[in-house]
Amino acid sequence: MPGDLLSSVRKYIRAVAVGILGLDEDVFEALIEPERVIEVKIPVKMDDGSIKVFKGWRSQHNSALGPYKGGIRFHPEVTREEVIALSTIMTFKNALLNLPYGGGKGGVRVDPKKLSRRELEQLSRRYVDAIYKYIGPDMDIPAPDVGTNPQIMAWMVDEYYRLTGLNTPAVFTGKPVEIGGLQARVQATGYGVAVVTREAARRVLGGIEGRTVAIQGFGNVGYHAAVTLHRMGAKIVAVSDSKGGIYSSKGLDPVEVKKVKAEKRSVIYYEAAEKRISNEELLELDVDILIPAAIENVITSKNAHLVKAKLIVEGANGPVTPDAEHTLYRRGAVIVPDIVANSGGVAVSHMEWVMGRTGERQDGEPVLRALAEKLVNAFNDTWKLWEKELKAVHQPLRIAAYCIAIDRVVRAMRARGWI
Ligand code: GLU
Repeated sequence: MPGDLLSSVRKYIRAVAVGILGLDEDVFEALIEPERVIEVKIPVKMDDGSIKVFKGWRSQHNSALGPYKGGIRFHPEVTREEVIALSTIMTFKNALLNLPYGGGKGGVRVDPKKLSRRELEQLSRRYVDAIYKYIGPDMDIPAPDVGTNPQIMAWMVDEYYRLTGLNTPAVFTGKPVEIGGLQARVQATGYGVAVVTREAARRVLGGIEGRTVAIQGFGNVGYHAAVTLHRMGAKIVAVSDSKGGIYSSKGLDPVEVKKVKAEKRSVIYYEAAEKRISNEELLELDVDILIPAAIENVITSKNAHLVKAKLIVEGANGPVTPDAEHTLYRRGAVIVPDIVANSGGVAVSHMEWVMGRTGERQDGEPVLRALAEKLVNAFNDTWKLWEKELKAVHQPLRIAAYCIAIDRVVRAMRARGWI
């Protein structure tokens, strides 16, 4: 399954680079291959005294615009191909946002929910032991992704310090506030998804107020998107997590749902919901806005014809496959692609990185305001290009975003004399 993501991403990039921007095939080849993929084994001493060996990767896709940047994923289905695909998405996400970064991504094939806190700390530290020579504030700056969080970043930054003697906060972002993280980073991705959803809803649905929303995934991204959209006046009618989902036609209060999830580990135990639904049913609900905010490849050629939402906003990376996008586009749905929709996380990571290097601090509202402005600009640039050049030739919004991003990366590669 995750292998599909790599072929999807390559398909989009090829279509834009060669088909639309008219670049030579060899420029596409130079653009598509990751510059370096590090594969490591991570032995961890488990609580019962046994040794378990995990597999991990860091893919450094492209550094033309600056040091590699992107999260680290802990998930039982992580593969080398998935990490490469996600690092490729990061290259273009960072380029679209005009951040001075290339793209990178890390992953460990593990189910973090099955580890004790001590085992998780060991795994995080051992992963850094394996890759520390290849990361640094001017080389590659990891951050959280699916299955990782500020605490894990804290162990990692500390391990980096222990190994190198460099007490530099700017080597990781998404750290806890106590060691140079930003409060705003935790909500940044979900908050950004909401801001972009509001902008898109204004154009596609005539506004956000009163619009019905279904969100797949109630992790860090899904939750903060739900809270922010709820505050904007949208009606969150369904949410889900890996155990299943809940639906309420009157609308759910995300804060109340979160309380139940925090206590019982799933949204499905929220009693005030009208009914329980599956993750598949959530995607097919008759809602105005659908936000897949869990994992890739959930809307495919198998279920795209059943998706009814008019506006789909990619909170996760790669949740809609190219075939599905085609089906949805023909039906008149608008998909806001991941590299626009969920780039709030890395945008605030950039602010954290700058602060880590200058020592100056800023957090809270001003950071969120700056973030919103950045995202609105990226969304508007994408939308304008789409309306002007791509809508008439039946290309989706994603292609416009990739046109802007690929052009920036290719120019930087040219300036450096790589192509
Ligand atoms: N993992 C996030 C993403 O996919 C954030 C990466 C970062 O903050 O560097 O965009």
